[in-house]
Amino acid sequence: MKAHDGMYIDGAWRPAAGQDVIEVVNPVDEQVIGTVPAGTAADVDTAVRAARAALPDWAATPPAERAARLGALREVLVARADEIAGTVTAELGSPLKFSQAVHAGVPIAVAGSYAELAATYAFEEKTGNSVVHHEPIGVVAAITPWNYPLHQIVAKVAPALAAGCTVVVKPAEDTPLVARLFAGAVHEAGLPAGVFNLVTGLGPVAGQALAEHPGVDLVSFTGSTAVGRQIAAIAAGQVKKVALELGGKSANVILPSADLAKAVNVGVANVMSNSGQTCSAWTRMLVHRDRYDKAVGLAAEAAAKYGDRIGPVVNAKQRDRVRGYIEQGVAEGARLVAGGPEAPRETGYFVSPTVFADVTEDMTIAQEEIFGPVLSILRYEDEEDALRIANGTVYGLAGAVWAGDEAAAVAFARRMETGQVDINGGRFNPLAPFGGYKQSGVGRELGVHGLAEYLQTKSLQF
Ligand code: NAD
Repeated sequence: MKAHDGMYIDGAWRPAAGQDVIEVVNPVDEQVIGTVPAGTAADVDTAVRAARAALPDWAATPPAERAARLGALREVLVARADEIAGTVTAELGSPLKFSQAVHAGVPIAVAGSYAELAATYAFEEKTGNSVVHHEPIGVVAAITPWNYPLHQIVAKVAPALAAGCTVVVKPAEDTPLVARLFAGAVHEAGLPAGVFNLVTGLGPVAGQALAEHPGVDLVSFTGSTAVGRQIAAIAAGQVKKVALELGGKSANVILPSADLAKAVNVGVANVMSNSGQTCSAWTRMLVHRDRYDKAVGLAAEAAAKYGDRIGPVVNAKQRDRVRGYIEQGVAEGARLVAGGPEAPRETGYFVSPTVFADVTEDMTIAQEEIFGPVLSILRYEDEEDALRIANGTVYGLAGAVWAGDEAAAVAFARRMETGQVDINGGRFNPLAPFGGYKQSGVGRELGVHGLAEYLQTKSLQF
């Protein structure tokens, strides 16, 4: 157990304004592994003032120099990759190999991509008799969740810094340790004081104070729809920009010509990855009625193989929430073919890899984001039916299409109301825009589109 002190503000660790702390718990054994200060509105105010003070110089720093700092930050993340992976495993509970490959690996790729983009992006363009300057929006508030704790910080901070913005991060209560580690990395990379600031604390206290602060120009939030709505309402009141990434209920559409075994196995792996705590997870598998029973058998087999290999979910509340959804699925008439609501272990926030068959569109488990290792398999009659089901939720974040013929998969994908579609198992691309249609959110992260979120244009006419 380690008591971590201070907030990273204006280039140094400074004492928190209050005395309260947040306990950080290892979800595998339920032991408290550390505490961090619970920030207050006073800490947030100090951090936002530091970010505002640092803004003019950072915004005026040539993009090539900003790129060099981001490159240095990437190098520090590389050097500290083992420490990052170990920290995420301790506070999120994910298996170490996954932490190494994804929780440490993806932020390195994203930081690297923005080091490159900062150096190459056309911050100035000509159109007719005008020169258009792409200028930083200003001070960014980044409020992040726990499921990909470092990725979600870097996917906001790296483009913001590349754009010339300054940032205050409020990380999730469950995973503040990797956020502190990141602050250390920023320091080591030599970013000027005040360009990056970190305030740990509770959402309704520090998070809300940050979203409400008049010194913030843009709030970038990832998390639940309920909090996203509140943040959008606050921002509307102050006419400031928001970016919201609010989750999904994505469809994995297996067309009749697809390689069924591959589509099912990759589909199950996608849902079980990170213990189902992935906003873009394909939690609804759509299979043609002729191959439905075969798909269900394959999925049950694949899920059973995961057995003990997946990590726990993040905390007791999430575990209870996920189990509640499993019980509701049973109560509403879905057929359990793998897993179930019982605790697979006595200690730790574990949930069994669970697969439901005979799920119909109207069921709660087919509509709401569960955020646990739970897959629903739905039956469709023909392609039009599949499309209707795929588009039949309030969300539209991601999805997958499988077909024997790639062109047929693409044609189907183009009709889906969603922001990302993987064709026949296409890999994650950190340069492709990520974000939602419908209630999955507002705005895009990653790549050049993610950078544009942090810029505003000024046109000069000649
Ligand atoms: P949450 O929305 O409460 O928390 C996300 C972040 O917002 C955290 O940093 C939190 O401290 C902060 N926050 C909370 N209340 C706030 C407020 N009033 N003002 C400002 N900031 C505030 O999410 P949660 O409770 O951790 O998870 C609940 C559900 O949200 C999950 O079960 C899942 O369905 C969804 N979720 C989605 C994502 C995603 O990637 N889209 C990530 C995490 C959770």
